[in-house]
Amino acid sequence: MTKEISFARLSSLTRTWLEAGGQPTVELAAMEPTLWQDSGRSILDVIQLFAGAGYQVNLTTNGSTLTQYAAALAQSPVNKLRISWHSLDRKVYENITRGDYRTFLLGVRQAEKYGLPLCYNRILFHGLTDDIHQHLDIVDRQRSRIKFLELYITEQNKLHFGSYHTRIDEFLKIVESYPGIRREEDFTPGYATRSRYVWRTPNGGRVEFKVAETCKKLPVCASCPYNKDCTEGFGEYFRVLPNGKAAFCYLRNDFDLPLFKGDAPDFPGLARQLEKTAGLEFDTWVKKRSLRLILTTHCNYNCSLPHGEAIFCLGKRFRNL
Ligand code: SF4
Repeated sequence: MTKEISFARLSSLTRTWLEAGGQPTVELAAMEPTLWQDSGRSILDVIQLFAGAGYQVNLTTNGSTLTQYAAALAQSPVNKLRISWHSLDRKVYENITRGDYRTFLLGVRQAEKYGLPLCYNRILFHGLTDDIHQHLDIVDRQRSRIKFLELYITEQNKLHFGSYHTRIDEFLKIVESYPGIRREEDFTPGYATRSRYVWRTPNGGRVEFKVAETCKKLPVCASCPYNKDCTEGFGEYFRVLPNGKAAFCYLRNDFDLPLFKGDAPDFPGLARQLEKTAGLEFDTWVKKRSLRLILTTHCNYNCSLPHGEAIFCLGKRFRNL
């Protein structure tokens, strides 16, 4: 059954997150946030709610609903529109997402036409990188942004991980052979442990690569069976889940902690539990963190490895809450 965060809980979060010391940035990401609904309210109301409370609002979407939402999003205070776009080859794209590439492309074109602030996320798959220069052509023409990410290991894809994981040197060779591209200084966002390589295309597009091997682990990770393969530091993101819990680890749900009492977040209670279960001191940690909201357990895509072997996204983790 689909679970959604209620609008009442979102309203309480706008204020209590800032009072708890968090950053005024909210990422509406994972599953498909544009499918969120509550009593006639839509994603546009969520964007308005947080922007009205002084937040910078970033939305990550699979792009399937942009034909419906692009015009309205352009009128909204959304700060960044991140679109997941893992291949420019129709067949590969549809094998990965099970979505319709023509609808997706129409949506991206509309988003561009309305001048939305576009960023793309692309996961790298070994052997499926021939179109990267074409992708950079788009970013260059639009002066938009693209972030490349290494495939991350999950319980579902671990058997096939080795066949699809792209080596950094393979990727660097492709990017750095793009005509006129310039490397800029590496960058690490304040909340993150992983650094990013950054390039600028000749016309001003921005290219980033999140470097998984720079991920730093906390003491709580020392005895974790995933320690060697996990590519996200513990507590790098503060995810609020549709079931009302807070998640600190992208792979393990035994670290999900209750956040809400009724519709009100209980940050002091969360801080106590976090210290007890993971030895993390909330008041210092929270100061660099943004809110990352997984609004719904619903996603109309089911992103799998390119030949359908296994789900690679976090759908499995967040769908069955
Ligand atoms: S899966 Fe979670 S607990 Fe394990 S190493 Fe990664 S961040 Fe740490």
